[in-house]
Amino acid sequence: MNRRNYNVSELRRLDVAHHLPAQSSYRLQQQMGGSRIITRAEGSTVWDAEGNAILDGMAGLWCVDIGYGRAELADVAREQMLELPYYNSFFRTATAPAVELAAKLASLHGGALQHIFFNTSGSESNDTVLRLVRYYWALKGQPERSIIISRHNAYHGSTVAGASLGGMSFMHVQGGLPIPGIEHIMQPYHFGDGFGEDPEEFALRAADALEERILAIGADKVAAFIGEPVQGAGGVIIPHRAYWQRIEAICRKYGVLIVSDEVICGFGRLGRWFGYQHFGFTPDIVSMAKGLSSGYLPISATAVSHEIVETLRATDDDFVHGYTYSGHPVAAAVALRNIEIMEREALVDRVADDAGPHFAEAIGALADHPLVGEVRTLGLIGAIELVAEKGTNRRHGKGGAAGPVVRDACIARGLMVRAIRDTIVMCPPFVITHEEIDRMAAIIRAALDEAVGTLAHLAGLPPPQLLEGAQPGL
Ligand SMILES: *Cc1c(COP(=O)(O)O)cnc(C)c1O
Repeated sequence: MNRRNYNVSELRRLDVAHHLPAQSSYRLQQQMGGSRIITRAEGSTVWDAEGNAILDGMAGLWCVDIGYGRAELADVAREQMLELPYYNSFFRTATAPAVELAAKLASLHGGALQHIFFNTSGSESNDTVLRLVRYYWALKGQPERSIIISRHNAYHGSTVAGASLGGMSFMHVQGGLPIPGIEHIMQPYHFGDGFGEDPEEFALRAADALEERILAIGADKVAAFIGEPVQGAGGVIIPHRAYWQRIEAICRKYGVLIVSDEVICGFGRLGRWFGYQHFGFTPDIVSMAKGLSSGYLPISATAVSHEIVETLRATDDDFVHGYTYSGHPVAAAVALRNIEIMEREALVDRVADDAGPHFAEAIGALADHPLVGEVRTLGLIGAIELVAEKGTNRRHGKGGAAGPVVRDACIARGLMVRAIRDTIVMCPPFVITHEEIDRMAAIIRAALDEAVGTLAHLAGLPPPQLLEGAQPGL
């Protein structure tokens, strides 16, 4: 394949003139003379338009699980486009890839999660969840059961429903969110909110906040609880095992549906096919996206329990919900092949038994660095907490300054990581080699060393003008 040549300065000029990138400051985009332009990728490495190789410690945006450059997926997409590039799934219509993918997902879940609704993005899946659970309770004759409980600092997407379900206050302030009927409880963030407390006791306290809120609202008004098994964009918050067990018990006690948002955790990220399997709870509904297609095409899926579908089957009425691209045949065919590749190459086992343990050891070794307050990993997801004083969870200045400094130092050395305030997060492809993991750890250590000096310098200056936005990196 011939590589295209790019006129980088012209692309960056056009970027500023015409392109509004997502989750970005348009002033900083302009000040920087355009966005970072990525032109190609292979394995776990991406290249920018200037030709710099960057090891992708984020798997794109938590999604390119099988790595870049899989010609097989391009072949499948081409074949499906020639056979049937598009048809919809409105009014009891289906395409073969959508049906086959639904059956595949049902078999991966097993149990009661045997029914799949398709959407195009994680956000849209959570929009589906919101409408579905309220419609379900209405059909059950309990329309007042409409409130959905989520958590502060959760991430459930960027549509109106997604951002409302999410607990990001900086997102709520734009656009008058959250919409009514959504409540947020505390998150199980031990390092941030329970420092020094026994981890299990803290986890139970965080879970019990759900019961307190249900009782405050009235159990007969609560439709569902939604949570990510491990909060991703909130800072890779890995709860103690006791947390989800207690959450499940509380939901069952009050008849509240459990929604597991597996958009990041699903498809092997934690070393099992789904995050709920790692934590040992049984959701009623599951949102999947990102790793579903390893990001090669936009597609998401909402798995729904048999009991819910039986309730929907008690009427001839339509579930008046769905998208033009629900069950898109090309995206579904690519997702199906993505899952087949994961199975053929045993990539979920690789996360659990090989790459994951190596990642835990290599990244875990950074815990001795003077800037590091905690390192957490699970499977191939991880976080490094940056602190001003070792042995505490005290941040530099008002907090939020250290993360971008370390992140930018990593990127400058050829490693893509993200900073969520003062938490450096990582989420590499499942195919990342041991050598690449070691290189990640070495680059982060060098970046931390450099940051010691930079942060000392910043401490003597007025509040820093942060280069690439101080917002959490979603
Ligand atoms: C990324 C993400 C979403 C939103 O997915 P989009 O495809 O960006 O709409 C929802 N939930 C979680 C847990 C996510 O990480």
